[in-house]
Amino acid sequence: MSVMFPIHKNFSEIISKRPARIALIALALIGMIILRRAVGVFGVSLGYLYVTIIAVAGLWFGKTGGLVVAFVSVLIFIGEVAVFRGWQARDLVFRGMPVRVIVYFLSGLALGHVSDEEKKMRKRLEFLAGHDELTGCLNFRWMMEFLEKEFARSKRYQKKMAVAIVDIDFFKRINDTYGHLVGNDVLQLLSKILKDNVRNEDTVARYGGEEFLIIFPESSSPQALVVLERIKAKLAEQEITSAHLKAGEKVTVTFSAGIACYPDNSDDLSKLLNCADTALYKAKNSGRNCIFY
Ligand code: GH3
Ligand code: MG
Ligand code: MG
Repeated sequence: MSVMFPIHKNFSEIISKRPARIALIALALIGMIILRRAVGVFGVSLGYLYVTIIAVAGLWFGKTGGLVVAFVSVLIFIGEVAVFRGWQARDLVFRGMPVRVIVYFLSGLALGHVSDEEKKMRKRLEFLAGHDELTGCLNFRWMMEFLEKEFARSKRYQKKMAVAIVDIDFFKRINDTYGHLVGNDVLQLLSKILKDNVRNEDTVARYGGEEFLIIFPESSSPQALVVLERIKAKLAEQEITSAHLKAGEKVTVTFSAGIACYPDNSDDLSKLLNCADTALYKAKNSGRNCIFY
């Protein structure tokens, strides 16, 4: 048992790789040709073993893989029927060819479809594990993991790193006046504006209900301020659209933000976040729609 386990583990690892899977399917197809030549007759249902190979290809490579292997299997089968004219039960097999072709292609298509759907679902679940469903931003848990890594990297390489907490002003009022669904659309819109207007290396996360955290690696507070002022101006000129707004209703949205920077404000991550929070508090107390650090 102790020897079997590593062998089994190694085999699973090997056949999880794409080239190994292609090689295995090719080997199985060649094995089928050899097996059928060794038996030397039709009519012993060996041809249906192709369905197993096609099904495996569908599961491994999706619809395309399933259909390609179904096509290759049909070609091999037609070749055998054409070449081995003397084999027993050839006429019967010949007559059953259309059904066989349909079975092969349907097997590839069905199993491939199942596999494609499963892949899509797995991708979605992986995404949802780390992202907020409404805005598509990093969720709090992944944000903290990411932030800790970025912070450690900044410390190691002695690089600055700014963080900003962005909080929508009077958001409760928007919910109360226009409804929660309009509020959701506002959150989506702001998150999009934030993501579209930061650099590739910056990260936007949903920090809380109507709060976002932006991580600016290798940036100082004044640099983060420039970006946020630009975003503030973009939001001001952006018309808020929502399918849930009634005719004639117009929403205006502003935000306040607090920025803090390593190492200027603190060399401890939670203290740094507290500094950004304090700056946000000051912005709120200064009448909102402004950014402090
Ligand atoms: P302030 O300017 O002081 O930040 O006021 P505010 O109204 O924005 O802040 P407050 O904390 O009083 O209210 C935040 C509101 O955000 C309350 C909560 O119902 C709402 N909220 C939180 N998450 C969501 C969400 O996912 N969708 C919607 N529509 N509203 C949310
Ligand atoms: Mg808030
Ligand atoms: Mg708010």
